[in-house]
Formats: sequence, C-alpha cells, structure tokens
Amino acid sequence: MGRWKPEKLYPLTDIDADEKPRAEKFLADLAAFLREKVDADLIDRTGEIPEDVQTGLRAMGAYGIKVPRKYGGLGFSQTTYCQACLLIASHCGNIFAHISVHQSIGVAQPILLFDTEEQKMKFLPRSAAGELAAFALTENGVGSDSARVKTEAKPDGDDFILNGEKVWCSNGTRAALLIVACKTPPKMVDGKPRTQITTFVVEANSPGVEVVHRSQFMGLRALYNGVIRFTNVRVPKANVIGGEGRGLKVALSTLNSGRLSIPASSIGATKRALLIAREWGKERIQWGVPIGRHAAVAEKIRKIAAHAFAMEAMLITTSRLVDRDKKADIRLEASMCKMWGTEKAWMCLDELMQLRGGRGYENVQSLIARGEKPYPVERLMRDNRVAIIFEASSEIMRLFIMREALDPHLKIAGIALNSERPWGERIKSSWAAARFYVWWYPKQWLPFGGGAPADMHPHLAGYMEEVAALSRKLARTLFHQMVIFGPKLEKR
Ligand SMILES: Cc1cc2nc3c(=O)[nH]c(=O)nc-3n(C[C@H](O)[C@H](O)[C@H](O)COP(=O)(O)OP(=O)(O)OC[C@H]3O[C@@H](n4cnc5c(N)ncnc54)[C@H](O)[C@@H]3O)c2cc1C
Repeated sequence: MGRWKPEKLYPLTDIDADEKPRAEKFLADLAAFLREKVDADLIDRTGEIPEDVQTGLRAMGAYGIKVPRKYGGLGFSQTTYCQACLLIASHCGNIFAHISVHQSIGVAQPILLFDTEEQKMKFLPRSAAGELAAFALTENGVGSDSARVKTEAKPDGDDFILNGEKVWCSNGTRAALLIVACKTPPKMVDGKPRTQITTFVVEANSPGVEVVHRSQFMGLRALYNGVIRFTNVRVPKANVIGGEGRGLKVALSTLNSGRLSIPASSIGATKRALLIAREWGKERIQWGVPIGRHAAVAEKIRKIAAHAFAMEAMLITTSRLVDRDKKADIRLEASMCKMWGTEKAWMCLDELMQLRGGRGYENVQSLIARGEKPYPVERLMRDNRVAIIFEASSEIMRLFIMREALDPHLKIAGIALNSERPWGERIKSSWAAARFYVWWYPKQWLPFGGGAPADMHPHLAGYMEEVAALSRKLARTLFHQMVIFGPKLEKR
C-alpha cells in the first residue's frame, strides 16, 4: 500500500551479547570441522554421508542449533542458524540439506512453533541429539497445491490410522521421526463439509511405515530422499501437531520460517563462487594478462560480489526480525529472500561456470587427474539448481507475494470489482472504495512519508528516500494493474 516502514530496517541490531561469544566459537568449530573432516566431493560421488561426519556434527550440536538449551539444543538465534547454514552450504550442499531439512522443516520447527510443553519435552531432546527428522507433505498428485493431500488419517479410539504415500521426502530413507500431513475427516462449516488437514509426528519404525524407493537426483546425491508408504500405521492422537484440522497452517508456517535456510545456502554457494571467481580471475592468464583484467570477466566478478552482498543483507535483516520477535510476520520477507536469493545464486553460478571456461564444465575428479585445481563448479551448479524448485517454487513465491500485496486492495475494492456479485452490493462497495482511494491514490504521487531516521548517516538516508519512492511506485503500479484486470490479476 506504499507505506514505507524504515523501522523494519533500521537500526540493524546484532545478536544478543550473551550469544555472541558462544555463536562465534560454534561457527569457528563448524568451519574447522567442515574443512578438516568433510570431503564434499566424496559425499557427492558415493551418495552417502559418512557415519563419522554425522557423529562429529552430533557432537558439536549441529542437529539442534535453534532448539532451546532446556531441551538439549544450542539455543541459538535465527541469525546464527542462518550463518551456520551459509557456512555448511558453502562447503557441502549435501550436508546442508541433511542438517537443514532436519531442523528447518523436520520435527524441531513445527514442534517449536505449535506444540505443547509435553510434546516439546518428548521430541525436541531427541531431535537435538540428532535422531534424524523428515517432512512429508508432497505426494505424486500433490505438489505446489499442497492443500489437496490424499494421505488419509482416520480416527480410531485414541489413535489415528494412516494410509497413503509421500514422495521426495528428504532425509526420509534414514529418518527416525517423520512429520506427515494427512487428510482427516471433514468438518461441517456453514452446513457444508470442509476438508481437514492434520499434521502428525510419526515414529518411522512404526509397523506399516515402509521406504519403497530412494530417489536419485541431478545433484544433492546424498539426500536420503525417498518414497514412503503408510499402510494402516497407528499414530497416537497425542502426536497431532497444533490441533486437528490445523495441518496446513502447521505445514505452511513451518515452510515459512524454514524457508530462510534455503537462501542462506544460496549465499553460501554464491560466496564460494566469489572466492573461486577471484582466484581464477588472477590465476588464469590469457592474452598476456589475468582474465580478471578483461572487462567482461571483471564484470562477472563484480556481479557475483554485488549479489552476494545484497542477498546476505536481505537475509540478515529478515533473520533479525525473527530474533527480535519470534512471532513476527515474515511471510513476505522470507518469500522474497527465497525467490530472489535462489534465482540470483543460480545466475551467479552460471557466471562462474562461464568464467572458468572449459574447466567449469569438468568435474573435480577429472580436474584432479589432469593435475588441475579441483574447483567444484559443476557440483555447485548441480546441488543448487533445485533450490528454485523445492520448499515452494519461484512461481509459487511470486504468486504468494502478489496475493499478499493485493490482499488489502481486495478487502477495500474486491466486491466492487467482482462481476459475480449483485449490482446493489457492488455499488455500495464502490462508494466505500472511492472514499478510500480519493485520498490514498494522490498520496502515492507525492514525495512525502519516506523520512529516514534522524540518526542515520546522510549517505544512507538518501537511499532510504529512494526506497520510499520505489515503494510508492510499486503501490501505484499494483493499483493500476488491479483496475485493469480486477480479481483476475491473482491468476496472472
Ligand atoms: C530434491 C527434492 C527434495 C524435496 N524434498 C521434499 C521434502 O523433504 N518434503 C516434501 O514434502 N517435498 C519435498 N520435495 C517436493 C518439492 O517441494 C516439490 O517438488 C515442489 O513443491 C513442487 O512440486 P512439484 O514438483 O509437484 O511441481 P508442480 O506443482 O507439479 O509444478 C510444476 C511447475 O508448475 C509451476 N506451477 C504450479 N502451480 C502453479 C501456479 N499456480 N502458478 C504458476 N506456476 C505454477 C511450478 O512452479 C513448477 O514450475 C522435494 C523435491 C525435490 C526435487
């Protein structure tokens, strides 16, 4: 609506003083562990994460980074968690996916968001100790439109009986605990049956849970991702998360906060790309000078550096919003970080591959065999492409962002624009909308309301004015489109 809120961006606070030294030590230990103990190319080649790597990660608490200390976790903030994800992903995409699925969308996140103290005591210590968790929402016929899950849970005394099949469940072939979204019996709302979706924690060793296939992908070859079948699986009602019928909210809220670890990994990959680009830009000589001195190559390095910086700024800002207020509504910010970050990371990796020339396309083993430096550009590309697809694709993110932006307008003018509503209602609503827009619209053309905070450096304050002007322009554009297309805009 063109309302610019600088307080969301400024001042940018740091993590709490008591967390800082602990977090710095954890991140330094993690970096050393990755460097010394994790052979990312071996993991890629074999499709397996060695047991000693998992043991090492467990020992340093990497399976419970955000889980509060009273439940056995490290109790770190979203900011520190994202930094850990960034670090891991810059080294090994497979370890990142393993750790991130476990705690961003696996058991810890939904339970932290929705569960009772009793359930937290029951599941969080197990999760923090590294009993692997997975999140099972997607089905063969149910991808982006996750509200139509077919896996069924029927009440039976104190239990539910689950039947159905989930696909592409990451960590699923090795998990001890599964978060499973199911259809439960419909409830009557306004005299009509309304489908209910309910989310459960399922012990993977329950009778009737079966891994029927391990999926293999272009990248992330050690994802332990598979098809999981549920045949008459008995799950206690006590394992329902967030209440019966609230499953979609649980699943979507989980994905919402979980979504931040994906752009963190994209930044990790982009920063790694920047390191490689800078080194190779100096090392490789063509036409008598390092290729980094040729303008076209320098431009690629500049682009990668600028995008890494911008992506990280977005992520830190959003993470700090969560740390300041655990219940902060970051749906829009998280979606923008995910959509923009994953797309730009892919673009940067593509620039890197170009900059490396033929060597970019060659895999690490082949490079080593020829006595060349093993820059893993080909692996980085394979591992990162899926980030634009999973945990809601870029198209779905755009749709979501657009719906959120349109929502206040539809509340004001939706009935007036809806040709299926009776004329009487539409005329009444048009009057109300006209009274609102006669004030609102001209304001979007006036250069007011963008004031920067008084203590801000004048150089930065200028940018704040620019952003405020951009946000008014966005509000105007959206309004014009809405007038042209009406409620159909949602599908465009
Ligand atoms: C490696 C990997 C790991 C995964 N891990 C998990 C996991 O752990 N748990 C889990 O539950 N799922 C997981 N998934 C599933 C993943 O989240 C889905 O692939 C994703 O949600 C998209 O669903 P889909 O593949 O069925 O695509 P579809 O929904 O069939 O979409 C196909 C294309 O159409 C586009 N599209 C669909 N609807 C619209 C629309 N309304 N407007 C515009 N475009 C649209 C999509 O963006 C996409 O480009 C994983 C997938 C992969 C590949």
